[in-house]
Amino acid sequence: MKQLTGNEIRDLFIKFFKEKNHMVEPSAPLVPIDDDSLLWINSGVATLKKYFDGRVIPDNPRIVNAQKSIRTNDIENVGFTARHHTFFEMLGNFSIGDYFKKESIELAWEFLTSEEWMDFDESLLYITVHPEDTDAYDIWREDIGLSEERIIRIEGNFWDIGEGPCGPNSEIFYDRGESYGADDPADEMYPGGENERYLEVWNLVFSEFNHNSDGTYTPLPKKNIDTGMGLERMASIVQNVPTNFDTDLFTPLLERIEEVSNKSYGVSDSQDVAFKVISDHVRTVSFAIADGALPSNEGRGYVLRRLLRRAVRFAKELGINEAFMYSLVDTVGDIMKGFYPNVREKSDFIKEVVKKEEERFLATLDEGIRIYESFKASVKDTTGVISGEDAFKLYDTYGFPYELTREYAENDGLEVDEQGFMDEMAKQRERARNARKSSESMQVQSKVLSDFTTPSLFTGYESLNEEAQLLLMVKDDESLQSYDGGEMVELIFDKTPFYAVSGGQIADYGTIKSDTAELEVEAVYKGPNKQNVHLAKVVSGTVETGVTYKLSVDAEKRSFIVKNHSATHLMHQALKDTIGEHANQAGSLVEAEKLRFDFSHLNPLTAEEIKSIEDSVNEKIYEGLNVEISEMPIAEAKEKGAMALFGEKYGDIVRVVDMDDYSVELCGGIHVVNTSDIGLFKIVSETGIGAGIRRLEAVTSKYAVEYYKEKERRLQKITDLLKVKEDNVIRKITQLNDEKTELKQEIKELKSASSKDKLANIENIKQTVDGIDLIATEVDAKNAKELRAIMDDIKSANQDAIIALGSVNEDKVSLVVTVPKDLTDRFKAGEIMKGMAGRVDGKGGGRPDMAQGGGTNPDNLTIALQFVNEYITI
Ligand code: ATP
Ligand code: MG
Repeated sequence: MKQLTGNEIRDLFIKFFKEKNHMVEPSAPLVPIDDDSLLWINSGVATLKKYFDGRVIPDNPRIVNAQKSIRTNDIENVGFTARHHTFFEMLGNFSIGDYFKKESIELAWEFLTSEEWMDFDESLLYITVHPEDTDAYDIWREDIGLSEERIIRIEGNFWDIGEGPCGPNSEIFYDRGESYGADDPADEMYPGGENERYLEVWNLVFSEFNHNSDGTYTPLPKKNIDTGMGLERMASIVQNVPTNFDTDLFTPLLERIEEVSNKSYGVSDSQDVAFKVISDHVRTVSFAIADGALPSNEGRGYVLRRLLRRAVRFAKELGINEAFMYSLVDTVGDIMKGFYPNVREKSDFIKEVVKKEEERFLATLDEGIRIYESFKASVKDTTGVISGEDAFKLYDTYGFPYELTREYAENDGLEVDEQGFMDEMAKQRERARNARKSSESMQVQSKVLSDFTTPSLFTGYESLNEEAQLLLMVKDDESLQSYDGGEMVELIFDKTPFYAVSGGQIADYGTIKSDTAELEVEAVYKGPNKQNVHLAKVVSGTVETGVTYKLSVDAEKRSFIVKNHSATHLMHQALKDTIGEHANQAGSLVEAEKLRFDFSHLNPLTAEEIKSIEDSVNEKIYEGLNVEISEMPIAEAKEKGAMALFGEKYGDIVRVVDMDDYSVELCGGIHVVNTSDIGLFKIVSETGIGAGIRRLEAVTSKYAVEYYKEKERRLQKITDLLKVKEDNVIRKITQLNDEKTELKQEIKELKSASSKDKLANIENIKQTVDGIDLIATEVDAKNAKELRAIMDDIKSANQDAIIALGSVNEDKVSLVVTVPKDLTDRFKAGEIMKGMAGRVDGKGGGRPDMAQGGGTNPDNLTIALQFVNEYITI
């Protein structure tokens, strides 16, 4: 076997498939683009769904990629198995309707065993196949020549994620030898079992069925190949090390952790788990943030939060008690910079985010401890067992690790219901699995559209009207020559002025007419072969292919869409100038009425930032910048500094929209000729939409004017209410405010005068009981402090009296009692208070001469005050 670094294995894989005429698809960002069904890109095929379900036909049906992936369902394994990560790279080759089982198996075998490539010892490779997939079995058996006992049939070898393409798979295992465990079927010690000896390195999926929405399976019109090989696992084999973590993809990280913790890796198993968890999670978090995700309380952001927390608490086991994960980000960037430069490029930003999050968690760990204490208090004298639900709650809600809960419980002589905790965990995993199952599915292939390859020319950059011939009409996935029902049909013409939804810009509206028929266009989108497909409702007449139609785009709508699209570009630039380069576009919507723009940023924009963005955009509108649009090779565009959208894939020739060098962006949308056409720009809202993503909404032109008009109407309403002229509004409001302050002051004085009256009459309340002066009464006091102040007042005039006061505020009773010093040998304020407070269902206490208390039963205040009387008499 060859000696190769992780990076070399990746290169070799791509090189091999390039030589086999595959096109290289770049590694897509971890945050899925235009795909709400996935939280993270979790495999090589996840970014290629559009090819697999036939929405888009690739330029070359043979594809190879190295795809960064995040799998959170493996999180509990990470650190404990040799082979699982939350972030890993999947190397894959794909065939979209080109080669199938035979060639994919031959390719895989050649790559793994040929001397020129990986040069693995054939006798150490094992294969699993689906029991009914006799094709695959025969190919391995006869074509490749493997003996029977090296091919294992496993029922679970069927790849199916719900609606969409699916099929059997065949996995390739590498036998790492006896030292990783002796053969024992009872212990799952066989290829495909849960073990560390037979390492699954490559999975070949033969997608040959359509899983239909009614649950039936039908053969796919075009069969596909999807494969995935774990880079880190390959590295562990090639470098002959016991786990993925001992490869060159991880060792620099382990060394950094050794430095920070002053502990050594490889000394104790349990300590090594911490090293592995930290090094795994910091890769995931660094890459995810570089790709636009941010820690938060939900969805993607929550995953990052959990990973960081998990790492921090494992760090505690290494004796690291302060923020340090951020200091590993540079190491991640350095290891990966060759293929993934963006972690290094954004390392300052990533470090800032990670550090903030770590510090925050270290603070909340304390909160977890408090919650634990409350659970403890409730079971200490009863069951003595912390329930599984509570342990899970600590873990899930407060990021408090189960191990920590158990440790604390042990110290306190309590038990934790481990089974209960495991059950809760299983339930959560089930919930996650169901969520995945129901949402990961793809669309069902449309055969008619994917077979139709005649191009359609888009003429809408120049004109809004076109005479065009109807080439294809589709209804319910069937091609029609003629149609006269009143429903929707899909239409493709030889040319069209209708823009198909893309790059955030919505599609054009409008009509399609002939002498005999009329249709209304409701949506326009790109077909699998990139023609603009019109979804139109037949209003009248018969629609026929081959006939020429007049296509007319709604000009007014289009003109506002175009203004908003150009304004979006200006705003994007102004945003980056104002808050920084990290403000990447995370989504955009350009409609006629408004524009919407999502971008990654941690904090809400301040009023000043919003104003600065708004001002910059309006300045560029007043300046009247010419908008020049040209096509050029991608290299030239990059040289011009053109802003490419994050994660978007571009061809070799790109369209560049240049607003006089101020904003230069790659874009296929439609724009104004000069920025002054936009007229006016106004931001109307700034909100957070979770996961570190902010959203700006803005209006332009007529709609901006309408926005200001609405404000004007509101101002009019205010002047009406205040009965003043607009010029005087501010003076009037200031005056009203002043008046209000004065009135408040007056009320306060009145109140205090009335309570003084009451105190002046205190002589009337004073009683003499057994020769002792006693004042016991209810007074008005907002709180205990005020009550004490009143007490001080009364006391200064009645030095020899026992005084007890009570007040009621929002159903709570406050009490205070004082006993003159020379009476304290006979009467104790603390005792009096105990008796009083008890009568209002409360508590109290204090010194012999002064005590305070309170209760929750105001109805009994009189009884409580009477108690003083009884106390003195006895
Ligand atoms: P396993 O059963 O070992 O978890 P899997 O069946 O989930 O693997 P696939 O979904 O078939 O794996 O992914 C293809 C390849 O990606 C695997 O053969 C393996 O090499 C790699 N892989 C999968 N999950 C992980 C992971 N969590 N960490 C590292 N590599 C992985
Ligand atoms: Mg798995």
